[in-house]
Amino acid sequence: MITITFPDNSKREYEKGVTPKAVAKAIAPGLAKKSVAAKIDGVLTELDRPIETDASLELVVKGTDAAFEVLNHSTAHLLAHAVKRLYPDARFGVGPAIDEGFYYDIKTDEAIRDEDLSRIEEMMRKIAKEDLPIKREVVTKEEAVSRFSADPYKQELLQEIEDDEITLYSQNGFTDLCRGGHVERTSLIRHFKLLSVAGAYWRGDSEREMLTRIYGTSWFTEEKLDEYLALREERRERDHRKLGKELKIFLLSDEAGQGLPIWLPNGFTVRRVLEEYVQRLERRYGYKHLSPPILGTRQLYETSGHFKHYKDDMFPLIEDEDESYVLRPMACPHHAIVYKSELRSYRDLPLRYAEIVTQYRYEKSGALSGLERVRAMTLTDAHIFARKDQIKHEVLSAYGLIRKAINDLGLTIEYVELALRDADKGKFHESDELWDEAEKVMKELLDEERIEYTEMKGEAAFYGPKIDIQVRTALGHIITMSTVQLDFLLPERFDLTYIGEDGKRHRPVLIHRGLISTWERLMSILLEQFKGAFPTWLAPTQAAIIPVSVEKHLDHANKLQGLFLDADYRTEVDDREEKLGKKIRDAQQKKIPFQLVIGDNEVEENTVTYRRYGEKEQHTVGFDEFMELFAKEIAQKK
Ligand SMILES: [Zn+2]
Ligand SMILES: [Zn+2]
Repeated sequence: MITITFPDNSKREYEKGVTPKAVAKAIAPGLAKKSVAAKIDGVLTELDRPIETDASLELVVKGTDAAFEVLNHSTAHLLAHAVKRLYPDARFGVGPAIDEGFYYDIKTDEAIRDEDLSRIEEMMRKIAKEDLPIKREVVTKEEAVSRFSADPYKQELLQEIEDDEITLYSQNGFTDLCRGGHVERTSLIRHFKLLSVAGAYWRGDSEREMLTRIYGTSWFTEEKLDEYLALREERRERDHRKLGKELKIFLLSDEAGQGLPIWLPNGFTVRRVLEEYVQRLERRYGYKHLSPPILGTRQLYETSGHFKHYKDDMFPLIEDEDESYVLRPMACPHHAIVYKSELRSYRDLPLRYAEIVTQYRYEKSGALSGLERVRAMTLTDAHIFARKDQIKHEVLSAYGLIRKAINDLGLTIEYVELALRDADKGKFHESDELWDEAEKVMKELLDEERIEYTEMKGEAAFYGPKIDIQVRTALGHIITMSTVQLDFLLPERFDLTYIGEDGKRHRPVLIHRGLISTWERLMSILLEQFKGAFPTWLAPTQAAIIPVSVEKHLDHANKLQGLFLDADYRTEVDDREEKLGKKIRDAQQKKIPFQLVIGDNEVEENTVTYRRYGEKEQHTVGFDEFMELFAKEIAQKK
């Protein structure tokens, strides 16, 4: 008899050689059906693997990540088997399970293309139906080397395995080198799809051969598979790289510099509308705007401490004989310099400085991604210099501003994180009194305002506690959109003071406020959110004016555009000699919120016939009435 220990630490006795499947059946009749594989002493393996000695056993059941991995990994073997039948010369690299499915790297003489995938998939279904058992076999390394003599990639992998015992898995003549963790039979693989083909260098090394990587995904039910494929399609439609290109929002060019996006006229128009909106909002909340240059001295960043802790993320220094400059990675030091340029009294505080700043970060080229990770990013950053007794009011006011901006953009706050210090006080700035006071008032105001938050003990920055505002994107990612960070350290480093009511010098507290991420990141989120169909207040072109006949109606169309321009609206006249239907389709494709058709009636009666983006219905109204509707829609930010 052997003793098996379960995850809840309970133990039971079994006959030597019992399989996980038999154990599952003995525990509960339904459990064997739900189980996909097993972990014996933490090692993933099959349900029919005999257990010979005392061991721990965990059943891998459907619905867990491990079960998904086993299924997808088994499907990768099935893919390789199908390819081997269709392309007898195929040599195989590696075929792992990944987050949302699996892939296999394959070399064939005749190239495999996207259009071949359905044929391969068909063969996979055929092999699955053959209901082949997936058999484990342990051989010596020598034996394995001879078995894979025709497969140079597997040979190379074998050379790197240090164990003398190698496990192989076979399904009716097709054998693969593998550590294990599979479903028991091919017929258990039912709901799968091959997704795409890409090139992949062998072992990720660009000096080596290019293999064909086939991606696929495999699920336990048809429903789950359909759900996943729908999500994939949704992601494709909302992909900001694709939309950014189609709608001419931004340009990424290696010739101009990796990770240095160029805002195109359409994208820059949206950004400018947002910038004006944000600056107006900030003025209402009592901010003053600054505009420092893009460079600062090395000394400035040495004082702030950025140079020491942040050097690897900065662009290399710009140096002359005795001068040394950095491209600004942060806005705060310049704002501290402005604070220090005058003698401040307690009556001057709080001082709120905001800036539209371009920051430069030297991200590794491999980390760059669309507008999500870039090397030059522009944002509306702000720094508030306040007295200790003003912390609560200022944090609350910053939060109010953030909430308004997020709502106006059509996004919603998912939750708020409050990062505090923990008992490990050495990790944090020493000023106990400031920490206690700041943490107390931040909690108080979140409670008073009934803002739901998660406390993150120990997650605060060295220099102070912070509130991070988390937003859910259209594709379900949670991102930190805004932040309010208290900083007790920077005022010390720059020796910032104000004269208090008592006539003595006091230290102000600095609050860093990030509003709506960077313009680049925000644009990627908004493209995703609106699928490129911006609401009228943000749209690069708010209305397309389409004359039915260029000859007869262009003059009137131009006249209307003049009136729109006077009112500061963004319109374009389609003066091409094209059919009306094509012009309307093109305006739809550009996702312009309104299409205005101008024909004989419209000219005679000074009306417009409009149609909204995505709608079929047309409405004819007087021009003035349309202007009213347009103005209302823009003001409401709908
Ligand atoms: Zn395997
Ligand atoms: Zn800052």
